[in-house]
Amino acid sequence: MASDKQEGAHTTLPQAAPYAWMDGAYLPLSAASIPITTHSLHYGTAVFEGIRFYDTVRGPAVFRLPDHLQRFFASALTLGMAIPHALDELERAIRELIARNELADGYIRTIAFFGEGISLIRNDLAVRVAIFLLPWLVRREKEPVRLCVSRFTKPNPESIVHEAKVAGHYVNSYMAAMSVQQPGYGGALMLDARGNVAETPVANIFGVKDGGVYTPQPGSILPGITRDTILELAPALGIPAEQRVVSLHDLERADELFITGTAAEVTPVSGINEAEVGGGSTGEVTTRLARAYEECVHGRDAAFQKWLTYL
Ligand code: PMP
Repeated sequence: MASDKQEGAHTTLPQAAPYAWMDGAYLPLSAASIPITTHSLHYGTAVFEGIRFYDTVRGPAVFRLPDHLQRFFASALTLGMAIPHALDELERAIRELIARNELADGYIRTIAFFGEGISLIRNDLAVRVAIFLLPWLVRREKEPVRLCVSRFTKPNPESIVHEAKVAGHYVNSYMAAMSVQQPGYGGALMLDARGNVAETPVANIFGVKDGGVYTPQPGSILPGITRDTILELAPALGIPAEQRVVSLHDLERADELFITGTAAEVTPVSGINEAEVGGGSTGEVTTRLARAYEECVHGRDAAFQKWLTYL
């Protein structure tokens, strides 16, 4: 029986910013809703991006916005989805949304999805795009997290396109994250189909050995934009950086470990399963890279202004 309470019961995320953008228009977040017959809800055929903007002396700046939007369009292309907006238009919408919501620091979620239709394959599906923002919580020092290897591995690269940020791929990430929910662990570590290290459900992983950093090569990972940032920042600090096949044994023998991602930024890792790494506290190389990243995203490093889009 319908009750008054259920009327308009689609509440919004309490922490989300009040204005969103959908299909070319700015609107209140609560009005940005979709029909239950939406194709992407049923089949996971949406693509998305998570992007950060940061407070700088010149006002809010979005970190690596063109790179994120290029990945967004590339992800859509893998699904044969033609986003009906130009990259510039989405870039303008994001800058305008930050201004309208009067936020200095936060997270941007863009999502493109197929509209109504419940046949798996149809070539006349509408493609819709939505953008909303979350203000970021107050920053605190990042405590090291301990990871647990999940029994859920990444699908083999012949099964999905790992480089694409497709909603449906995250069922595998969700299963992995859920499978390690137990006291003492801060997240999952996922292996690839061959048993080598891949990534966490939402971040890339790095090891530090003898003053250099290494990270799994592309193939079974989302090659993250933060990962790419670290691969450029490290050599600039005189820290050699390498992409290669990484075994669990390598990580257990590392001097330090950390994970990278738009939301995770540079987060230290204290150990994997029972094995403690680097004495369980944040190591020197991790600290240097985390600080360099912080300087960069806040526009305090003149050498990396190229990564910032100011409003
Ligand atoms: N791997 C996965 C599976 C992710 O979801 C993310 C977050 N986008 C990352 C890695 C890190 O990517 P980025 O640095 O581009 O946020």
